[in-house]
Amino acid sequence: MQAITDPSILEAYLRDASNLPGHAERLFRPSTAEEVAEIVALCQQEGTPLTVTARRSSTTGASVPMGGVLLSTEKLNRILGIDEVEGGVLLGEYQSWTEEKGWMFPPDPTSRNECSIGGAIACNASGARTYRYGPSRAWVESIRFVTPTGELKEADRSTAIPWPTTNWAEPPIKTAAGYFPANNLLDLMIGQEGTLGVILSARLRLRPLPPGVLTIFAYFPTEATMMGFLDAIRALGGRYPDGGEPGPYAPRCIEYFDRRSLELIQARLPELPQAHAALLIEIEHDGEAPLEPWFDLLTTYEALLDHTIIAEDERGRAKLHAIRHALPAAVNEIISRNGVQKVGTDFAVPDAAFPEMLRAYDAVEMAAVCFGHLGNNHLHLNLLPKNLAELAEAKAIYMELAKKAVSLGGTVSAEHGIGKLKRTHLALMVPPLVREGWAAMRKAADPNGILGRGNLLDPS
Ligand SMILES: Cc1cc2nc3c(=O)[nH]c(=O)nc-3n(C[C@H](O)[C@H](O)[C@H](O)COP(=O)(O)OP(=O)(O)OC[C@H]3O[C@@H](n4cnc5c(N)ncnc54)[C@H](O)[C@@H]3O)c2cc1C
Repeated sequence: MQAITDPSILEAYLRDASNLPGHAERLFRPSTAEEVAEIVALCQQEGTPLTVTARRSSTTGASVPMGGVLLSTEKLNRILGIDEVEGGVLLGEYQSWTEEKGWMFPPDPTSRNECSIGGAIACNASGARTYRYGPSRAWVESIRFVTPTGELKEADRSTAIPWPTTNWAEPPIKTAAGYFPANNLLDLMIGQEGTLGVILSARLRLRPLPPGVLTIFAYFPTEATMMGFLDAIRALGGRYPDGGEPGPYAPRCIEYFDRRSLELIQARLPELPQAHAALLIEIEHDGEAPLEPWFDLLTTYEALLDHTIIAEDERGRAKLHAIRHALPAAVNEIISRNGVQKVGTDFAVPDAAFPEMLRAYDAVEMAAVCFGHLGNNHLHLNLLPKNLAELAEAKAIYMELAKKAVSLGGTVSAEHGIGKLKRTHLALMVPPLVREGWAAMRKAADPNGILGRGNLLDPS
């Protein structure tokens, strides 16, 4: 296959959403499994670093090359069947396509229209609906992939891992930090961040699209009323993985906006009342929206009913989602105006530790907004440094918060992964012996250490 070396073409592939600058000498855009295998085998033979790049929405530098070859999955872009799809297909495009046919692929990263299926599997991506449906892992049945030595392989949950592995006590919460303690090859390949193979295609698990979804955007006057409401709706069941059978009104997501986030996007809101925070909740139903029990719950926990927004159809839900999605965009705008990098947390902690973590976020004195997946105790605190001096301060605050999350039994990444930028944070939660075991596994799988060099572990 002919490599592309024109710097003006390569330029577009050298950064991801983290803005970390990279460099590479050659780019390949294969469209078949055989071409992928040929490129990988060639790089292994030469000992040339090879970075898999898809839609580059990673926030951790995972798809940024530090020299060598780039393998873009953009031409592996065919939907092969209702539940089978190539790695380069845009996640949102596949989801819209299945939804037209009455089926739903539940993982819904906010970046669903900016990321690929292969990227979502490689990073075990999550989203708001992870509260009910779990991360991407829960919806992948099998994959076809190319190993770091250029072999074509298939893996499902009955496939043995051909390399020595080291398992560890991953925290039993939403997490995407480090290799999964897997007992089969498929689970090891999910969340491997482009270090153990190139995912060509996947067979996915779908569920029937629910007949209706009720969406509620409600403001709460105090933290105590909001937390009381959270406990009450968690008690409705259906929380992944062990929240029990969902009750008839159980939500599929519980999203949080702190006061500072609401102020940042207030132009998008009909009105911003005096409130501590707001929640966005979605409830699937069989055609008749369960309005009454939800009004009762909102009333009990003193939600500001006059300001509560209810959407019973797709159009109303899309409007509320637009509000949610406006937040990362507003943050990015401030960050680029200030000429600094984004410093945003991706920590999750166990239920019992969450109030303490929330207090730590609230105590941060630098300008910041906090929003995210309350149902999973997983919030994104986005620090908004005004200049380079404040950026250094923001990084120090971030490190202290990472230590706090780990000390509370949490994870340094609940969904965005580790990539190149969060290796030091991963080291806070994973002991050296385990990381050494992972390095040995990678050496066995990839003798010349070509794939995803610098992701998860220090490059050796
Ligand atoms: C605004 C915004 C919102 C986001 N929201 C979320 C969110 O809600 N939830 C969430 O989980 N993440 C979120 N992300 C992070 C990001 O979108 C995900 O990590 C996504 O899965 C990356 O997919 P991608 O196609 O862009 O992959 P890339 O960024 O191109 O690559 C990411 C990693 O996956 C590897 N990779 C990609 N494709 C393959 C393949 N076919 N085979 C092997 N390795 C591969 C790459 O080598 C790299 O290590 C967000 C990002 C942005 C910018």
